[in-house]
Amino acid sequence: MSVTATTSPAVGTLYVSPSPRSRGMPRVTMTLRSVVSVGSILTKLQQDCATPLPVIRHVADSMTADMRAGLAVDGGSNLKMILSYVDSLPSGNEKGLFYALDLGGTNFRALRVQLGGKEERVVATEFEQLSIPQELMFGTSEELFDFIASTLAGFAEKESKKFHLPHGRQREIGFTFSFPVKQTSIDSGILMKWTKGFAVSGTAGRDVVACLNEAMERQGLDMRVSALVNDTVGTLAGARYWDDDVMVAVILGTGTNACYVERTDCIPKLQGPQSSSGRTIINTEWGAFSDGIPLTVFDRDMDAASINPGEQIFEKTISGMYLGEIARRALVTMAGEGSLFGRAVPNKLSTPFALRTPDICAMQQDNSDDLQAVGSILHNVAGIESSLSARKIVLEVCDALVKRGGRLAGAGIVGILQKMEEDSRGTIFNKRTVVAMDGGLYEHYPQYRSYLQDAVTELLGSEISKNIVIEHSKDGSGIGAALLAATNSKYDHDF
Ligand code: ADP
Ligand code: MG
Repeated sequence: MSVTATTSPAVGTLYVSPSPRSRGMPRVTMTLRSVVSVGSILTKLQQDCATPLPVIRHVADSMTADMRAGLAVDGGSNLKMILSYVDSLPSGNEKGLFYALDLGGTNFRALRVQLGGKEERVVATEFEQLSIPQELMFGTSEELFDFIASTLAGFAEKESKKFHLPHGRQREIGFTFSFPVKQTSIDSGILMKWTKGFAVSGTAGRDVVACLNEAMERQGLDMRVSALVNDTVGTLAGARYWDDDVMVAVILGTGTNACYVERTDCIPKLQGPQSSSGRTIINTEWGAFSDGIPLTVFDRDMDAASINPGEQIFEKTISGMYLGEIARRALVTMAGEGSLFGRAVPNKLSTPFALRTPDICAMQQDNSDDLQAVGSILHNVAGIESSLSARKIVLEVCDALVKRGGRLAGAGIVGILQKMEEDSRGTIFNKRTVVAMDGGLYEHYPQYRSYLQDAVTELLGSEISKNIVIEHSKDGSGIGAALLAATNSKYDHDF
């Protein structure tokens, strides 16, 4: 179903030119003027966020160039291209009990896994998930890390008999921390800045493993962080455990990021001893990418009102935290300037972040003729009474933004793949290469997923894109972090 200003018969046949004297006009004319106005706002939005092939080609090429600049020298590009210190990926032989913690943007998860080596693989796994209390996102570092340590302590107490720790050993943790960290070793790293709406005081500039260790001490909890990993790196490790062709991992959740397997001789900024494998994982922090991204006035306004204006522009156009909010801003303008929902702008719609990405996703799944579900979501979320034509406009807004998001994410993936292919001809495009995907946005939004795939196919062509497998790796990052704790265990291991 499609509605645009140019094809709407009401606009085409009954156009009334705007006039300053419109106040005195009969009500029917007012209504028609409103339709014109909404239509033109929609058309402008669609034009401003359009992603035809030349635009996504430019984004993919710029991503490649920015990656190279970030690998050349620290600070050489928007992309930080952070060394993960993960030089060897799980082999499948890992054995023993390991824990993982995952601090994302929305949820906090604790997980334990009993690994049984090549034959038995994952013998048992248990996890607990909590949403991060809102006040902790704006509190102090101690409060946040105390929450993490006390949740972990409660979870560790519930360890069942399926899990075995050899006598005299400390429980080891893989800590997934999904914010930009300057890694200083596999088990330490300094928080560069908070993102995704977090504004916790006292953590930026500190080693987040030290912050967690101190909180565990305060809780009297005897556990040790063996690996500090970005969620993308955890996802890559977790997916690679099952499939040797995994070379790239991408997170599309509250925020977004990507990592990939790089040759150490392609990293000019890498000083000192190089890994024995000759490879390492690079965390791109691609959320900070910004070159050539088509932006609307609603993006600019949202960015200006954000806690990090001018930063994380790619993240702000493609990730789950923001898609609903950009749509909300467009709808507020359409309601105010074009009376999309009648005379007044519904009060609840004016609240920032009132419309969430899961809401616009749910609306886009409505295939009914009268768009019943769209109507009830608008009603429940924003107290809106909507006509059928208004619901169609709402869907057009959502679709334009989700299409841009998915296609830009696809262009970013192609940017990474073509960088790897340029350096090692034939190793990416001429054989099966897997991109492991995770995050709530990718998992739950079918339209987003298919726009992403479309862009990859358009950019690579149908032959090459047959070799590129983009697949969901559910919860890979939790197990992946535990696997990296195993690979980096302080105890001798027989794998
Ligand atoms: P995090 O990024 O915080 O680690 P997730 O990967 O679980 O967490 O992603 C959560 C995000 O995914 C939410 O903030 C939301 O934007 C998006 N999301 C969750 N459910 C849906 C859904 N049904 N449809 C679209 N997006 C969703
Ligand atoms: Mg996450």
